[in-house]
Amino acid sequence: MYFQNESTFFEFIKSTIGIAKYSGDKKEIITYCPNCEFASNKSHGHLYIGLDVPLYNCFKCDNSGVVDKLIVSVGGNPNELMNMDSLSKFKNNRGTYKKPIFYSRPREYEKYNTSVAIPTDDSFEPKINYIKKRLINMTSINDIPNVILDYKTFLKESNALNVVSDNMLEYLQTDFVGFLTEKKTTVISRNINDFGKIRYHKLKLEDGYGDFYSIKIKDIDFEVPTFLIAEGPFDVLSCYFSAEMKQYVERSNYLIAILGKYYNNVISYILDYYGIPKGNFIVVSDPEIPDNYYNKLKQHPQINRLEIYWNSTGDDFGSTTHTPVKKYNYIKNKYIRRRH
Ligand SMILES: [Zn+2]
Repeated sequence: MYFQNESTFFEFIKSTIGIAKYSGDKKEIITYCPNCEFASNKSHGHLYIGLDVPLYNCFKCDNSGVVDKLIVSVGGNPNELMNMDSLSKFKNNRGTYKKPIFYSRPREYEKYNTSVAIPTDDSFEPKINYIKKRLINMTSINDIPNVILDYKTFLKESNALNVVSDNMLEYLQTDFVGFLTEKKTTVISRNINDFGKIRYHKLKLEDGYGDFYSIKIKDIDFEVPTFLIAEGPFDVLSCYFSAEMKQYVERSNYLIAILGKYYNNVISYILDYYGIPKGNFIVVSDPEIPDNYYNKLKQHPQINRLEIYWNSTGDDFGSTTHTPVKKYNYIKNKYIRRRH
């Protein structure tokens, strides 16, 4: 509705910028960023242009705005390509969202293909049994996003065998289950043997910071999105498969393991990554963390609504005997301004 003719606009981008591709769902056009990728010869760019929402964003340099500005910047005339009435209506009703929300974010590390890592033979049965023991309600190993059992195949097919020593690789291959992080910088691994000499392992694949393990529940739309967050992958996976936690999972857009205890920092990284200014957060807390540990979090300016839960069994949420939940609820109305 914002474009007079979408395919004409597509051709305009392609001819002026040099490349144009539709995203998988055809809701976006992906091209080079005129600001940071001009005259690039890479196979894909980082500038996303929304078709349902007339905003654009470069995931490399943060160049962003309303599409008419982009058209002008590459020498075109918005009047010839866009419906100016609906565009000005959009601008008037744009609300608080400064950045567009793109459903198909660029993947910097497409080379890491975890689908190869789910083995079909029984050589990984001890690992699968360990996961079944941790996640008693798990439906199928294939329902765990980004799980890695076969480290050798995963690293080999990713051309990344050099990130780990041979000895460590053997150890990972026999004794660990891993989870690839959202930005694909790290594999977080857990020893399947509770008495192993190393219980946890972090395999660094790429430089990068502010990474986390993420399970998508539903698309982010123009509502304030909700994130259920916990310390580790088994905490969020346990919630993911739990009947008692269903209502919390279903309210969430993403379940996220922050891979540590530093909620304050990670919340900014999460929101920045998904390109949104603020979110609702449901924290499922480890039992030994006291309420006052979260005092800073309660003040976090990007949190719209914060709920904190402890497991009433006294265990963490990643344990087998789980759920029924205890304490809670800090609603921060000060960020919701009503006009009279
Ligand atoms: Zn850029």
